[in-house]
Amino acid sequence: MQNLINILDFLPEELEDKIQPMFRVKQIYQWIYQKYADNFLEMSSLPKNLREELNKSYYFDALKCIFKEKSKDGSIKYLFELKDGLRIESVLLPMKKEKFDEKGKRIAHAKFTICVSSQVGCKSGCSFCLTAKGGLKRNLSAGEIVAQILYIKKDNQIPYERRINIVYMGMGEPLDNLKNVAKAVKILSCNDGLAISPRRQTISTSGLAKQIKELGEMNLGVLLAISLHAVNDELRTELMPINKAYNIATIMEAVRKFPIDQRKRVMFEYLLIDGINDKIEHAKELVKLLNGIKAKVNLILFNPHEGSLYQRPKLENAIKFQDLLSQKGVTCTIRESKGLDISAACGQLKERIKTS
Ligand code: SAH
Ligand code: SF4
Repeated sequence: MQNLINILDFLPEELEDKIQPMFRVKQIYQWIYQKYADNFLEMSSLPKNLREELNKSYYFDALKCIFKEKSKDGSIKYLFELKDGLRIESVLLPMKKEKFDEKGKRIAHAKFTICVSSQVGCKSGCSFCLTAKGGLKRNLSAGEIVAQILYIKKDNQIPYERRINIVYMGMGEPLDNLKNVAKAVKILSCNDGLAISPRRQTISTSGLAKQIKELGEMNLGVLLAISLHAVNDELRTELMPINKAYNIATIMEAVRKFPIDQRKRVMFEYLLIDGINDKIEHAKELVKLLNGIKAKVNLILFNPHEGSLYQRPKLENAIKFQDLLSQKGVTCTIRESKGLDISAACGQLKERIKTS
């Protein structure tokens, strides 16, 4: 059983070098990502000896679910164990319910977003974030990122062709693991696989300007989200030490150069923390900062955790903040606090389940 390789780590063209010809690779991809096979031996359209060889060299059960919790709003949080025993979290977020007409015929499918982790832990050290607490343990491989989506789709019997959105907003800083995240984007978008277009994948970053530039140069077609959280460098550095390396001006310059689909916008996440950054002056400064950028703002209400330094903002302040942005023409939503009852902000489930 030792030295098996995670087959989810490979793009079709990479597998072609190992398993010829290409049509066999396509079949394997389809079995794994579209027919949701459990093992190689059941891949009945492959010759028996190939199935046995694959079984001796590869695996694709990269994750073991050790805890799963459903929130009242329908979101499902997963705690996964990797092959080396480290743990990560992912969340399934139902965005829209399925719709039926008066005769009971389905007229619209349910819509889902899956939030994935990109690292075990994180080295960015943001003061409000639980993932920051233990520092960075290691990067996830591309296949370990892909495995989260595969597991969750399979577990919820979401047919492979159903469109879903991916957000890299779980544990870790995706741009600190750019190579593997970029590869995961490509594997996820393969037509013989899960076929999730890069335009349905959003990479969220604490603002690593150098890597934003690199990601832009890759021209993958992914969407970008910036975790801004503060409008001046002094406060931002207090909340997010990474701001010392890349200040607000540097991040905005990288964002302005980032290639983005004409119809799309860069998302700015703004975590509202009671009494810290939720005043109307902050909203006004935010409007100025976003001037000239095709932006949309997503206000997040701080989700307190044990030992956290901060408080949840008052809803009325969040609404005033949103109103000001909207009046000034900035598209702005308040992120529904999905899964609040199940500790849905990143790192919070792992911290709570300390069993081994
Ligand atoms: N490292 C990346 C992506 C993972 S964090 C980033 O920082 O963008 C995903 C989002 O969760 C970030 O916007 C982060 O600020 C937010 N977050 C972290 N801790 C939170 C908390 N306690 N309550 C609400 N949101 C939180
Ligand atoms: Fe890392 Fe993002 Fe948490 Fe900051 S908010 S510590 S960048 S995961």
